[in-house]
Amino acid sequence: MELHELIEYIKVFCEDRDWDQYHNPKDLAIGISTEAAELLDLFRFKNGEEIQETMISKKEHIEDELADVLFFVLRFAQTNSIDLSKALTHKMEKNALKYPVDKVKGNNKKYNEY
Ligand SMILES: [Mg+2]
Repeated sequence: MELHELIEYIKVFCEDRDWDQYHNPKDLAIGISTEAAELLDLFRFKNGEEIQETMISKKEHIEDELADVLFFVLRFAQTNSIDLSKALTHKMEKNALKYPVDKVKGNNKKYNEY
């Protein structure tokens, strides 16, 4: 599905369940954060090879949590008339200025540390 189709899909899904009443910006932002934490929790206390092993042994669970994060991101954008393609493009343009290739290639330091 294309992005606009995914957004329509979750919009209809939520409308069918009368969930608009629960999806204010604060609660949707909480949803993004808690689902991201559920994804992160799958890697708690894992190091080195265990991280890659978790990617294999918990693949479906990881996919589910990633989908949960995406659901809340899409729903936040949909209910607040945010054009995600435009927002991402705009932010990446800012990132390109913050992280010029000639200064940061092969280095993961924050923009104010390189
Ligand atoms: Mg979840």
